[in-house]
Amino acid sequence: MDTFDFESRIIDIPDYPEPGVVFKDITPLFDDAEALRAVVDAICEHFSDAGITKVVGAEARGFMVGAPVAYRLGCGFVPARKPGKLPREVYSESYSLEYGTDELQIHRDALTPGDRVLLVDDLVATGGTAVATARLVEQSGASVAGFAFILELSFLNPREVIARDYPQDVFTLVKVS
Ligand code: 5GP
Repeated sequence: MDTFDFESRIIDIPDYPEPGVVFKDITPLFDDAEALRAVVDAICEHFSDAGITKVVGAEARGFMVGAPVAYRLGCGFVPARKPGKLPREVYSESYSLEYGTDELQIHRDALTPGDRVLLVDDLVATGGTAVATARLVEQSGASVAGFAFILELSFLNPREVIARDYPQDVFTLVKVS
């Protein structure tokens, strides 16, 4: 699976969702059975010996990556959701966006202190979402075991941002520099 050409399946969408932004559309990696299997297998092979007990994915594309990875690793999956979406008691983390702030939440009983958690998302850009999700894991008393993303926008230096607080393994399938 090392040789799978993930990059050629990602489509650049200029000026989406607003002028000047080039959106990376990763949906072609999900609508094709071979590509989907290659994504999930590559992440799971990398973390197969990491002792992962739970996978956490951020709304919404993190759900698409995280649930099949959790299934394949034999773990549970925990959604980190936008405010107001989870029906029971939650932990919350606010984080900065280019303009304003956003917030993610997880159920308070979703993770336990013994859990070793893999954080997944489709793409890491500034690293803000990843760090906020890692803080939710820590609020639960669980530990962050690593991070996995399909696509890394290296030119935004997300690894530096994540490494300030989390020296754990950051695994990505495609880097855009
Ligand atoms: P960050 O917090 O690292 O700046 O942004 C990462 C989050 O924004 C991820 O949850 C990701 O889904 C979303 N995101 C930002 N830009 C893009 C993009 O160009 N394509 C996709 N698929 N997701 C993006």
